[in-house]
Amino acid sequence: MVHHEWSLSAGLCHSVPSFLYRVSLMMKPQVVFVLGGPGAGKGTQCSKIVENYNYTHLSAGDLLRAERAREGSEDGQLIANYIKEGKIVPVEITINLLKRAMEETMQKDEKKFRFLIDGFPRNEDNLQGWKKVMEGKADIKFVLFFDCSNEVCINRCLERGKSSGRTDDNRESLEKRIQTYLQSTRPIIELYEKEGKVRTIDASRSVDEVFAEVKAILEKEG
Ligand code: UDP
Ligand code: MG
Repeated sequence: MVHHEWSLSAGLCHSVPSFLYRVSLMMKPQVVFVLGGPGAGKGTQCSKIVENYNYTHLSAGDLLRAERAREGSEDGQLIANYIKEGKIVPVEITINLLKRAMEETMQKDEKKFRFLIDGFPRNEDNLQGWKKVMEGKADIKFVLFFDCSNEVCINRCLERGKSSGRTDDNRESLEKRIQTYLQSTRPIIELYEKEGKVRTIDASRSVDEVFAEVKAILEKEG
């Protein structure tokens, strides 16, 4: 009897393609959303987190810029227009880039299941797209919110614009990005706030001071 059960399950294993079997062993992705105004320091702080903790940093903006630059991309021109105008790209594009990046990371190393998703979700469309594609497939641990005045945000981006080469680090684009942030992103942060999921950090201070607070939060959350 015991022998019979054993051979049955062994047979089942053989019938499942090995890559699916591997996927079934993977951990569910654990996600921290990283939000805050343009220039709040999301990217800088994410790099420091990656140096010190076992997280993979995925910046939605960076993924979109890479897709914009990819030869043969069907969405390149649309992405370019949206970024320059400070508008939020339709989520169908962004969610595919994020999902693929997460899958590729975990396929290379199944221990890499912790993600910082930086600059997403930025509006209701982003949130719905995430839910549609990722709900049940990933856990949102919490939202790291880098809180910073608009004035500090604008000045930091203008400073960054001297060398970033970004098409949106100029005064005209920045005005629009701030409006988008206030009108579309803040309500998303408030939604998560109501669920008790937001960890707010005063991001107007120096990189090291802000990181000290980030560290305290990560140690507490485990
Ligand atoms: N963007 C988007 N969807 C996203 C993330 C970024 O459409 O999920 C676009 C949007 O136009 C935004 C720009 O990319 O203004 C730059 O985003 P990024 O996160 O790089 O800017 P940051 O806030 O870090 O300065
Ligand atoms: Mg950024």
